[in-house]
Amino acid sequence: MSVIEELKGIVGPKGWLEAPDETAPYLVDERALYRGATPLVVRPASAEQVAAVLALCSREGVGVVPQGGNTGYVGGAVPDGSGQQILLSLSRLKRIREVDPLDYTITAEAGCVLQEVQQAAAEVDRLFPLSLAAEGSCEIGGNLSTNAGGIAVLRYGNARDLVLGLEVALPDGTIWNGLRRLRKDNRGYDLKQLFLGAEGTLGVITAAVLKLFPRPRGRVTALVPVPDRAATTRLLARCRQESGDLITSFEYIHRVCLDLVFRHIAGTSDPFARPYAHYVLLELASGRPQAEVQAVVESVLGEALEAGEALDGVIAASEEQAAQLWRLRETIPEAQKHAGGCIKHDISVPVSRVPAFLEEATEIAEGLVPGVRVAPFGHLGDGNIHFNLTQPEGADAEAFVALTDQVSGQIHDLAAAMDGSFSAEHGIGQLKRAELRRYMSEAEVELMAKLKALLDPNGIMNPGKVL
Ligand code: FAD
Repeated sequence: MSVIEELKGIVGPKGWLEAPDETAPYLVDERALYRGATPLVVRPASAEQVAAVLALCSREGVGVVPQGGNTGYVGGAVPDGSGQQILLSLSRLKRIREVDPLDYTITAEAGCVLQEVQQAAAEVDRLFPLSLAAEGSCEIGGNLSTNAGGIAVLRYGNARDLVLGLEVALPDGTIWNGLRRLRKDNRGYDLKQLFLGAEGTLGVITAAVLKLFPRPRGRVTALVPVPDRAATTRLLARCRQESGDLITSFEYIHRVCLDLVFRHIAGTSDPFARPYAHYVLLELASGRPQAEVQAVVESVLGEALEAGEALDGVIAASEEQAAQLWRLRETIPEAQKHAGGCIKHDISVPVSRVPAFLEEATEIAEGLVPGVRVAPFGHLGDGNIHFNLTQPEGADAEAFVALTDQVSGQIHDLAAAMDGSFSAEHGIGQLKRAELRRYMSEAEVELMAKLKALLDPNGIMNPGKVL
């Protein structure tokens, strides 16, 4: 029997696709930068089936590309063009196995959509705080495998920080059941950390025990224009100190981003009577009632206005208004798509250095590409800026995007010089492999390669990604 027939046998008639029109959506990444080929998409329905697929592929030396919601930004979830690698979709592992409001935990299978996990937590009056604009389609296994960040890292940490236990199918077909819900457990190495952020190169996450938190009763969102870049970090420090660290999100938005949103996204408009150059979208949340959180926000913003750290402010008066403010932030990537060619960066630097980074990176970009629309935004609260560049008005999109290596090289050099990272939250995938070798030390890359060889000696797990 051929390997393909054996794979079909493992997952049963509902567990595979091979007709080109059915496999096509699995073979192109979110940004349409990569297109791959595969003889088979397998869609197992249990951890045991995942393990059996891996055991067979290990024996036969067949490459396996895990895929969750396929919203990743670095081409990590699509196969190469050889047509030799199988695509392993986790989307049928959809069970919430357990929610425990006393332990503040939820046990979810890899294919649960992030929003479903948030909802299951909310049903028992708890919060699962991981939140990103792709939450309606990205899956928890993908979130953990990319160590996703998002808009609440400032308060709750990255995906990695939200995990108590994991179940992983290893390349040799073993299932490691590490589904513990212990808050303290120092029995040797913390093995789960190996698989978090590994982008499917070491094994397949099939389920996880995730941390829950009290669900906020009061939540207040505000959009605040600030006089300059330097004011952003001072305002952040004030908000943290004066609110007793109630702040959950602190997002930077440059005016150019808002102009693109107003132009390209229907139903959006400027909440202020005049334009400003720099804005912060912030959110505070607490178990205390709405009115109390509102009073804290008003007091902190009042002080910031007096100190010259804020120029104005709109505080959302309802959930609907808060959603409108968030829409301005979350539709920036879509607006940039409409505006033509875009060179994207996902950098992080120490929070205090964000203003200097923005200043210098803008100079570099404008020096290299006259007329470029510098449109940075992102999670300033954790030092993560999407330093995105939109093509000059009327320029040729392809010619602009062809400048990526030249421009990104200098932006990444700048981040490195500021003790920063060229990949804050999106990972390495196919897109940033060269940068990994350029900016990480030889010792680090070698250690990663040794771990990979140990766990995946036949090299079947997501070949051509990360390393
Ligand atoms: P996929 O894209 O399917 O896979 C990502 C990687 O994980 C691949 O390497 C894949 O092989 C591997 N993988 C998937 N599932 C498993 C598994 N079960 N076991 C082992 N490996 C697996 N990211 C952020 O961090 N923060 C943001 O704020 C953010 N905002 C976004 C906004 C938009 C509009 C979009 C489109 C994307 C955004 N992203 C963001 C990127 C993306 O949503 C995240 O990287 C997300 O975590 C990917 O999840 P996914 O299920 O789509 O994974």
